[in-house]
Amino acid sequence: MIKKLLLLVVLYGTTISAQDYFYQKFQPFNSEIPSPEAFLGYGIGEHHTRHDLIVAYLEKLAEVSDRASIAEYGRTHEGRKLVMLTITAPENLSNLDQLKEEHLAFTDPKKSVSNYGDVPIFINLAYNVHGNEPSSSEAALLTAYTFAASENPEILNYLKNAVIFIDPTINPDGRDRHTQWANTYQGNPEVADPQDVEHNEYWPMGRTNHYWFDLNRDWLLAINPESRGKLNWYHQWYPNVVTDFHEMGTQSTYFFEPMKTNASYDPIMPKENYEDLNTLFGNAFSKSLDSIGSLYFTKEVFDGTYPGYGSSYPDLQGGLGLLFEQASSRGHRQTTAFGEITFAFTIRNQYVSGITTVKTAVNNKEYMRKYQQKFFKSALTNAAKSKVKGYTFGDVHDKNRTKAFIDKLLLHKIDVYRSGDSFTVPTQQPQYRMVQTMFETYEKYRDSVYYDASAWSVANFYNMKYKSVNTLNLGDKITETKNLISISPVQKSNYAYVMDWDDYNAPAALVYLQKKGIVASSAAKLFSIKTKNDTKKFNYGAVLVPVSLQKEDAASVYKSIKEAQEKFEVPIYAVDSGLSLEGVDLGSGNISPIKKTRAVMLIGDGVSSYEAGEVWHLLDTRVHMPITKIPMRNFNKVSLDKYNTMVMVSGKYNLNEKQMSKIKDWTSKGNTLITIGTASKWAVEKKLVKEKLSKTEKDSTQIAVRKPYVDARENIGKESLGGVILNVDLDITHPLAYGYRDSNIPVYKNNSVWLSPSKNSYATVAKYSKKPHIDGFITEKNMQENILNSASLIVSKLGSGRVVLFADNPNFRGSWYGTNRLFLNALILGDKIKIPSED
Ligand SMILES: [Zn+2]
Repeated sequence: MIKKLLLLVVLYGTTISAQDYFYQKFQPFNSEIPSPEAFLGYGIGEHHTRHDLIVAYLEKLAEVSDRASIAEYGRTHEGRKLVMLTITAPENLSNLDQLKEEHLAFTDPKKSVSNYGDVPIFINLAYNVHGNEPSSSEAALLTAYTFAASENPEILNYLKNAVIFIDPTINPDGRDRHTQWANTYQGNPEVADPQDVEHNEYWPMGRTNHYWFDLNRDWLLAINPESRGKLNWYHQWYPNVVTDFHEMGTQSTYFFEPMKTNASYDPIMPKENYEDLNTLFGNAFSKSLDSIGSLYFTKEVFDGTYPGYGSSYPDLQGGLGLLFEQASSRGHRQTTAFGEITFAFTIRNQYVSGITTVKTAVNNKEYMRKYQQKFFKSALTNAAKSKVKGYTFGDVHDKNRTKAFIDKLLLHKIDVYRSGDSFTVPTQQPQYRMVQTMFETYEKYRDSVYYDASAWSVANFYNMKYKSVNTLNLGDKITETKNLISISPVQKSNYAYVMDWDDYNAPAALVYLQKKGIVASSAAKLFSIKTKNDTKKFNYGAVLVPVSLQKEDAASVYKSIKEAQEKFEVPIYAVDSGLSLEGVDLGSGNISPIKKTRAVMLIGDGVSSYEAGEVWHLLDTRVHMPITKIPMRNFNKVSLDKYNTMVMVSGKYNLNEKQMSKIKDWTSKGNTLITIGTASKWAVEKKLVKEKLSKTEKDSTQIAVRKPYVDARENIGKESLGGVILNVDLDITHPLAYGYRDSNIPVYKNNSVWLSPSKNSYATVAKYSKKPHIDGFITEKNMQENILNSASLIVSKLGSGRVVLFADNPNFRGSWYGTNRLFLNALILGDKIKIPSED
């Protein structure tokens, strides 16, 4: 009790000056409006603020201030609220619908309005996409307070001329993971030693969301509810300026745009965006930071070319996205080469930059509005210049994958038309640049070192066979994906049901049936058979459910089958006879029972949390299959006996001999080990499998060619694969490829795992094709020495089990619908792979 009292006194003593430290400049403040400090009971910077308290404070502001209102735009995976606080002058707030309509007229290329100066500028201050970069959400509280409570003429002017949307936390699940950590280990006195636990989070750390996704890559891919909610919001408001606040290494200063000059060049963006606008705002940030004595740098790093960043997506919507990077205190106080960095210091830089963003946007209101109007008008004029009038696509054998792709297009407000089973996206539309982003591929690049991916033609992620067309046959416009798939309902049979394995949702339907106790088999050979309605030719992997083999009676089996079909919209057919018209009959030894998958994945220190999260997300959200996640620290004490399939994603696995034997013995008993990326390299190097790496080893005795020291980063960088899309040749008769009909599919490569094709003729499931380049930057050296000699997917025998080695990640960022099936086949049909011995 005494301790608590003392703490309060100390806090009180420090908070007055601590809070003045932030917003002294904007006195006086309305005393009716509670400050963050008054509301939270501690000064900003003294602790890390939980997301629920951040929301509660903004709700309070909306309740007590006539300048603010709040709305929820989504919920995270963990159920946390995603909120947007709208803050502006009271007369604007009460007239918001009208202002919105006037604002949106500038984004409509068919309208030609010119009241640029009359409508307030729309600004989205968005914070904390990376959970363990926490300074900005604290700055959001200070900023919201300033705009809600300050009576200073400068602030009143901004409120009159701007509608400010404050998104305090883009990634609440990650933020709270880190907040819990930093507060748990905060010392009193605070410990600035970088080695202290407070500054060193455990795996998976707080950067990512619930499924360990980087939300600052998800704006384009829109896999997670945080981004989906945000995109829905975004396309209602089209803000003119959007902020994206981050933190970087502790031994740094502050960064704002312009970014790296040669990396900014973007073939589809108006130069005005990254030259004029960024310079205009950059000059304003430098002035503000100069005035508080903060150091910063610009132009040396980062690129804004990947369209899925929080700072690049707004650029594709006629706005200006702004990246900020603050050196992190990672905790409350940390020693650096410059001295000590405190949490409060990091918050102040973000706060000042946020206010300066509003100031600069207001001061250039007419310019920003004209720019946005020109941007959308130029979409139509650029499209008119292109020979390509549209793109057609659609896969009749996999309607759910097609639907998932269309869902993505609609989320980005791209117009899509349907004519039968064929879909068309015309280029002549306001979202022409998003159309380009989804479909265009590139061979030439402006830079060779990428901060992230150099390929993002999303159509390829979905393995959508598409073509550009010069004439249009549009059909009907689609506005939603609901009812996009019409499936003829399966009829009741007393004999058997057959489900196509081609549809993206087929594995989910199978898992659902298995959960209901249904025994199902998988066909290794093709067959044609009479169904209730007509004759149907089934592809490899078709799933058979014979009624007489089930524990339940025919009526209950039908009920489960019908439920599976309705839930997952997959094609299932009733058959009355086992005699096929062509190919194997239903009682054939080539149609064998599918075992229930009992999956386990190694996670924890050294393991790529991104790749592990992608597996977890895929199984949870799309297949509804549980997977046990075992932390490496417990590996010695757990038994693997209850599992039949194990996943090891990329990572550094430092396993001792005993641990290696454990994996080897378990696999040899007939189980399936799936390795991805560097885990596959590890399996080869550790001789778990008798396979080879194809990378030619450098001669270490050779003396290197001398090069200028200053070029080292660029030279080394260009040989590392930033992420490219390559074509592989797939053996579609192999169990790992069941469900594919075309042997050419795109894969994503962003590592240097080069597997040699197997010596066994039946074990190389996917090899890079002869002309493999689809999209992205790759050097000729890499192409000749590595890619053309390597396999993307091989299987290797180990005792009576097998190791499935993926060189490339089939689940990249949750958005590679096109290659997910390879992974799910390994997981579900692993024991179907019997590698014929050629000895
Ligand atoms: Zn970040």
